[in-house]
Amino acid sequence: MRIFSFFERSARSFQQNRNYSTFLVIFAVSGGGLVAYSESKSSHGVYNVEPSQVDAKKKKVVVLGTGWAGTTFLRNLDSSLYDVQVVSPRNYFAFTPLLPSVTCGTVEARSVVEPIRRICEKKSGNIQFWEAECIKIDPASNKVLCRSNLNANSEQNKEFFVDYDYLVVAMGARVNTFNTPGVTENCHFLKELEDAQKIRRSIMDCFEKASLPNLSEEERKRQLHFVIVGGGPTGVEFAAALHDFVRDDLVRLYPMLKDLVKITVVEAGDQILSMFDKRIGSFAVDKFQRDGIDVKTGYMVVSVSDKAISMKLRSGETISVPYGMAVWSTGIGTRPIIMEFMKQIGQTNRRVLATDEWLRVEGCDGVYALGDCASIQQRKVMEDISAIFKLADKDKSGTLTVAEFQDVIDDICERYPQVELYLKAKQMRNAADLLNLSTGNDKDGSKELDIAGFKQALAPVDSQMKILPATAQVAAQQGVYLAKCFNQMKERELDPEGPPRFRGTGRHRFRPFRYRHLGQFAPLGGEQTAAQLPGDWISIGHSSQWLWYSVYASKQVSWRTRMLVISDWGRRFIFGRDSSCI
Ligand code: FAD
Ligand code: MG
Repeated sequence: MRIFSFFERSARSFQQNRNYSTFLVIFAVSGGGLVAYSESKSSHGVYNVEPSQVDAKKKKVVVLGTGWAGTTFLRNLDSSLYDVQVVSPRNYFAFTPLLPSVTCGTVEARSVVEPIRRICEKKSGNIQFWEAECIKIDPASNKVLCRSNLNANSEQNKEFFVDYDYLVVAMGARVNTFNTPGVTENCHFLKELEDAQKIRRSIMDCFEKASLPNLSEEERKRQLHFVIVGGGPTGVEFAAALHDFVRDDLVRLYPMLKDLVKITVVEAGDQILSMFDKRIGSFAVDKFQRDGIDVKTGYMVVSVSDKAISMKLRSGETISVPYGMAVWSTGIGTRPIIMEFMKQIGQTNRRVLATDEWLRVEGCDGVYALGDCASIQQRKVMEDISAIFKLADKDKSGTLTVAEFQDVIDDICERYPQVELYLKAKQMRNAADLLNLSTGNDKDGSKELDIAGFKQALAPVDSQMKILPATAQVAAQQGVYLAKCFNQMKERELDPEGPPRFRGTGRHRFRPFRYRHLGQFAPLGGEQTAAQLPGDWISIGHSSQWLWYSVYASKQVSWRTRMLVISDWGRRFIFGRDSSCI
């Protein structure tokens, strides 16, 4: 019946559009079920994918990317409500926090990935997945242009359009080389699963090369010098993982090389792990010193050749250090397609896509962005201060009592989270304290504020606005939030749950996105981890390592990967890591 109506609709669309030169009907087995979709070729010769196996009334949701943000959105979306299509050059989700473990074989590559089609299979409704890269977003015609590299021989079938009503942009970020010469050609990155696999092979290659006969001592030393550029969590964790691999496994297998191995972490700033509490940074430096890992802070890498890395010191002096393998882990940059899209919609001079607090891309209807490719532009209280005052001044007296302010403070805090952060930072119990601060010590709360006083009282709160970090935690929470909004789209139209519109009328349909920081880990090797938990609670040592194991096991996206990861950890404890160069 469905297929019949699909035929009817496709035929109708064919008749309507005389530009189409070809008309194809393809049946494919997807996600365990039979789906049908049509492809039509436009006058420009590019296929247009028209999902048609589902009710035409359903809105089309297109998700770009299968990383933390895209996958979490997909897993939480009620896919029976929408016609969902997913586009990504990668047909799996990768659990990135375990990539450093993959580099040394502590965990196998296949243990940290989940096929997207398996995730789709578990969902109700039909979800289509296209293994392709989005190469252009066209918000004017609600289309994205995609390109698949699978059909490498056929130029004709490489590109196709996908239509959307709602577009969820979750394409993540790319590595950032800061245009340093030689980095792309000579350094490894640690961003994707393939990178981790390449690093694993390269480590073993270095050991095998250093074992060959007829090599000078100097050359052996060069081969075994591992340099990590970037003292952030990824670089530090990789350095620690590599040190463990060498100490626990490789020195037994290559006893003659044991004194030649050197690991160096190079950081341009003053300290490593600068996003963590200072105590964690200094503990890491002390531990690395004890382990023989050389930490060079204040060294800026200026170029990389195939055998040496040039670094500039603060004094202006430049040194050249021979190396065998280098891993570049200095942060992330914007993908070219996101840059192009930002230009198109007038978001110039920005690093990432700007969204509002509901994750909607500014200046573009029906387009949402989340994860590493986007950042929320939190609205300032001072931009809306007159509107807030007007709404709070219920008796229209032109002044605000503490009671009037208290009536709206919850809404203000919901709309502008910086107010709550400010109250917390200043250890204020409630809004009255904030007003009292500017009116003087007003014990009976009878003092009233005019607009000038109100502005003065709230002026400092915007200083608490924070840009969310580019982490899996943020991306995943955004995915859950956006899916919930999509699931309740209809209900919330009639029954909005958000704060009042200070500058308009009525209420916002949804509550704005709120990030809850659950803490972060920095594994430092030797079964020791530093953990910075909410409330700046710090824990360093073996107990946090067990916390790390349990959190990462519990955060796996399926029981299959959970079992694989746990068994890999068990295998490593019993047999050590595998050093085969495959
Ligand atoms: P990604 O997960 O990068 O996903 C982007 C997706 O978009 C991918 O599927 C990609 O294939 C796809 N894509 C790319 N280009 C296109 C295109 N043109 N069209 C369509 N799709 C496209 N965060 C933590 O919170 N804790 C950690 O411990 C942690 N450890 C990390 C360790 C490593 C080694 C790395 C690299 C990152 C780590 N992170 C961690 C950060 C975390 O992985 C990222 O913040 C997170 O992946 C961001 O999610 P995302 O969905 O925005 O992007
Ligand atoms: Mg009043």
